[in-house]
Amino acid sequence: MPAAERRQSPVDGAVQEEESRRMKFAVKAWSKNGRARVGVLQLSSSSSCGHGGPPEKVIEIDTPALLLTTRKGLPAFIPPDHLSSLPDSRLLQFSPMHFMEGPNLKTISNIGGVHQLLGLHGYGFVALPRDSILSLPECNSSNKHGASFETPCGRFLVKPLEYMKMISSMKPDLWVSLADEVSASVSAKRNKVSVDRTIRWLDDCISLKSTDGALFGSIVGGCSIEDRQHCAQEVAKRNVSGYYIGGFGLGDSIDERSTLLHAVTDCLPKEKPRQVCGLGLPEEVLQGIAAGVDLFDSMYIYHLTLGGFALIFPLDVQCKHVSDPQLSAMASDHTKINLKATVYRKDASPIVDGCNCYTCQNHTKAYINHLLNVHEMLAQTLLEIHNTHHYLAFFCLIREAITEGKFEQLRQNFIESRRDHLLAASLSCMS
Ligand SMILES: [Zn+2]
Repeated sequence: MPAAERRQSPVDGAVQEEESRRMKFAVKAWSKNGRARVGVLQLSSSSSCGHGGPPEKVIEIDTPALLLTTRKGLPAFIPPDHLSSLPDSRLLQFSPMHFMEGPNLKTISNIGGVHQLLGLHGYGFVALPRDSILSLPECNSSNKHGASFETPCGRFLVKPLEYMKMISSMKPDLWVSLADEVSASVSAKRNKVSVDRTIRWLDDCISLKSTDGALFGSIVGGCSIEDRQHCAQEVAKRNVSGYYIGGFGLGDSIDERSTLLHAVTDCLPKEKPRQVCGLGLPEEVLQGIAAGVDLFDSMYIYHLTLGGFALIFPLDVQCKHVSDPQLSAMASDHTKINLKATVYRKDASPIVDGCNCYTCQNHTKAYINHLLNVHEMLAQTLLEIHNTHHYLAFFCLIREAITEGKFEQLRQNFIESRRDHLLAASLSCMS
């Protein structure tokens, strides 16, 4: 994995120096014979907004890490005062497109950016044009001028200049350059166009930027190894603080993803962080980490929570479940249970015995089953607290496994355990 050539960009020196002061990243350990790595991402939150904000805080995030996917800066169902009870939940991801119908950019800028607007000063904010929930790339409507996004407020075409005004007003700690993300089904010609546009828009973002937040350069290329490598090599020449590997979760298959991810990360310098969007399932996260990705979004938790599901998979390298006849009876895949099921109506136990999240410490499966059945939003709040807690603990387990040289063991055990349970479930359905 040769360190990629880097080229001086026209970025202003003072802004560049401030950017490197705002974000530092160091790799601490590598997996045995692999690309998975453990690192520390350090963010220094800005206090220079002149609105009497708190003094500068330094936030340290161990990687690989989970970014909490948000709506307008806050997780969909977790109240702000519960965030601090979740371990390692210090990175919040938002799309500037969420604010299209909110306070205008000048107001957000006058308030001091997203930190001041939301009153969350001990957290790092990551701005990414797309997410996997409310702001989806709509490649058929994107053109040479800008990228199109489908949002609950309608479809928006966002040009680099407009995007940079959003970033300057919102003042995130990290932000991702505008990309032309396309689905896996587009033609080879359209795929190449998306690479050219994404590189051009990155140059536009660099020349237009006036914020000290750290810039992650977007890399696209769909399902073409050649296009992905070309894009990664070009972005690696630019003066960016990290990389966003885009275009996943848009119709690509899990089978082809490892090759594509490896093709990209092999072209990137080792010393800078890599982020991805659209890989949510535990096995997809393990696949991304095995390719050297450091930051992931939590849209998987959001979808689980909306469906009434709770994560229950074991948090140890062996991935062995305690024998549970009830789980077998539910034909569960042994990663999650659906608390809407009638079998939980009288279940007086917590979601996971021994889990120290707020939900498991205070409530039973029967209570959450009741809340779900009467459509009470507290059900989603309690589920999202548990699911986020559980998934953050999964990332902690992965970091420990990498450090102890057991990452491949964890990955294999997890995938085999899930495959065995899915097989057993399908056999029991047929019998
Ligand atoms: Zn719990």
